[in-house]
Amino acid sequence: MTGEGDDSAGPRGTVARRGNDRGGPGNSRPKRENQNRVATSRLLRSLSEPSRPPPSPPPAAMKLDVDALRYLSKDDFRVLTAVEMGMRNHEIVPAELVDRIAGLKHGGTYKVLKNLLKHKLVHHDSSKYDGFRLTYLGYDFLAIKALVNRGVVAAVGRQIGVGKESDIFEVAAEDGTIMVMKLHRLGRVSFRAVKSKRDYLKHRSSYNWLYLSRLAALKEYAFMKALGEHGFPVPDAVDCNRHCVVMSLVQGYPLVQVKQLQNPDEVLETIVGLVVRLAEHGLIHCDFNEFNIMIDDNEQVTMIDFPQMVSVSHRNAKMYFDRDVECIFKFFSKRFNLSYQEAEDEYDETEADVEEIERPSFSSIAKTTGFLDKELSASGFTRKDQDDIEKFIEGGTEQKDTTSSDDEELEDQEHTHIEATDDSVAENIDFLDLEDQEDAAASCNVSIQNEDEILQSGEKENSDELDDGDAELTKRLNKQRRRAIAASQGTRKALSRNFYKDKGGKSAHNSKIQRQSCNW
Ligand code: ADP
Ligand code: MG
Repeated sequence: MTGEGDDSAGPRGTVARRGNDRGGPGNSRPKRENQNRVATSRLLRSLSEPSRPPPSPPPAAMKLDVDALRYLSKDDFRVLTAVEMGMRNHEIVPAELVDRIAGLKHGGTYKVLKNLLKHKLVHHDSSKYDGFRLTYLGYDFLAIKALVNRGVVAAVGRQIGVGKESDIFEVAAEDGTIMVMKLHRLGRVSFRAVKSKRDYLKHRSSYNWLYLSRLAALKEYAFMKALGEHGFPVPDAVDCNRHCVVMSLVQGYPLVQVKQLQNPDEVLETIVGLVVRLAEHGLIHCDFNEFNIMIDDNEQVTMIDFPQMVSVSHRNAKMYFDRDVECIFKFFSKRFNLSYQEAEDEYDETEADVEEIERPSFSSIAKTTGFLDKELSASGFTRKDQDDIEKFIEGGTEQKDTTSSDDEELEDQEHTHIEATDDSVAENIDFLDLEDQEDAAASCNVSIQNEDEILQSGEKENSDELDDGDAELTKRLNKQRRRAIAASQGTRKALSRNFYKDKGGKSAHNSKIQRQSCNW
């Protein structure tokens, strides 16, 4: 695919890639803003189009079909929100409780639940007792709707990444700026982690995957914002709702896709410098590797993916720091033939080869803890949140083995970067014309109070249910994930994270956005 009609792609830089070309030149903000923006007039035209008839239920393969979102009524959202609220204390929420929370006129809730089921926004479970729970899609809809109501997101585009615990989509703002929406999916495949924390779960009835995904998103948003404010090269944190983070689109590609660099030693130095500067700010990334470092045509780096970051005061801090460093050095050594000094706690400086880039030592860094505390709490991310989430994704222990990037990992699909090269894969950006439902969220707020009262008035806690539901839920979630990957890739097979092919085309990604924008 070539970038015909792609004026924004800019000159080709020095980065030779393995994968699909997604970027333009540089990631300086003014440029990025222009590049990521499409004509507002087109957008306005699109929004003023008459509504199409309601769609039939989404196909079995689950993609993020936002079409249905447009046709959900105020009552639909009210009941969906009621299920969400019920899930604070119940893994499966009895229909009667949903009805009480939603407070619709007699019988209304049941009819709405049927509609929500049809659209796969809730799941009916009668294995232990009769009730409902939100599906990912239902949770996605609640988050997206909130972001639409806030005026942050106006359209949802194609999926650009599937991680083990996240799905990444392009979204557009009202002015046409293309951004990235990351939907966290904690609990999707790492139920093993949850199972190993049963003691904790038993004492926490409100625990569920919604809670963890929300925490992960909040943490990611808060860290991205704080790091950005301290001058770190990270995407701009735009907004966050539930398990969803909206950020700026990085004009670049994951380092893993890059097979040549003009100045690999400079890039390595920059990247190692980032690990050191993070530590000076009291932080360790904990998943710092070629998948979470984006690089543009000017060889500028941007780091992403922050839910697993820990403080330098963490008991395993040194190990995490060394692992991050090791991972980067190994990758550069293998991919770009850079020599480096082998990991040693105390190395003899006289033996150091001047040609080699120095490996930073954790103990010699002047670290300041609490540096970002103010910024983090300004985003609503508290110390308790940090403690809670650390219990589950402690320092990336549920992440992949970050020290390896070898070719034998072809089967590993934790981080599938979707290469949308044909039209069956590329979804048109779907605009979300939800103005008629503006007050739905407001009316749901009333329900929050009602629900709290209901829950406090003696609803029994159901933490035990989680244990028995694990296997079934895990199976279902895995199935759902496989479907999502298959759906987002059309007829293509899921690609392993090292299975990037150089399509050789010029900025296929940008040209796609251009073509999509023509259809708006
Ligand atoms: P995960 O937690 O699942 O690893 P990441 O945040 O690392 O999710 O994102 C997965 C992939 O999505 C990245 O490797 C990258 O290709 C793409 N991606 C994520 N954020 C952005 C962004 N802001 N701009 C462009 N691409 C992004
Ligand atoms: Mg990642």
